[in-house]
Order: sequence, then C-alpha cells, then structure tokens
Amino acid sequence: MRCEDLVSIIIDYLEDSMDPAFKEEFERHMGDCSSCLAFFETYKKTRDLTKEIKCDDIPPDVQDRVRAFLKKKISQA
Ligand SMILES: [Zn+2]
Repeated sequence: MRCEDLVSIIIDYLEDSMDPAFKEEFERHMGDCSSCLAFFETYKKTRDLTKEIKCDDIPPDVQDRVRAFLKKKISQA
C-alpha cells in the first residue's frame, strides 16, 4: 500500500466499510509510516470535531490542508 492509497481509503476505514484484508494492510502501513499515522490522527480528530459542531462533512479547505501536510511530509522523507 502506498501513502496515496491510504489517503484515498481513509474514509472507508473510519466508516468501517472496508474489506477486512484491506483493513489489515491499512493498519500495517500506518504502523510503518509515521506520516500516514500522523495524517490519520489529524483526519480523525478533525472529523470528530466537525461531528461535534454538526457538520456532515469535513470542509474542503481542511481536507486540502491535511492533504498538503501529508504531501509535505512525504516529500521530506
Ligand atoms: Zn504512508
């Protein structure tokens, strides 16, 4: 699994609508990749936060920000 793959399926993981085999790969990648782990934590936190203020979805600008953060992390690695 590549970092881009993880980012694109992160919603499925959080919604628990992911194939169990895929889920295992997802978790394995996060165990090996601190960038993705950081991204996941940020994403989850943001999601929980937006849930609290009763937003249905993460605002696009926040999504862009976390994506930009991850891209920067990857390019630094
Ligand atoms: Zn990664």
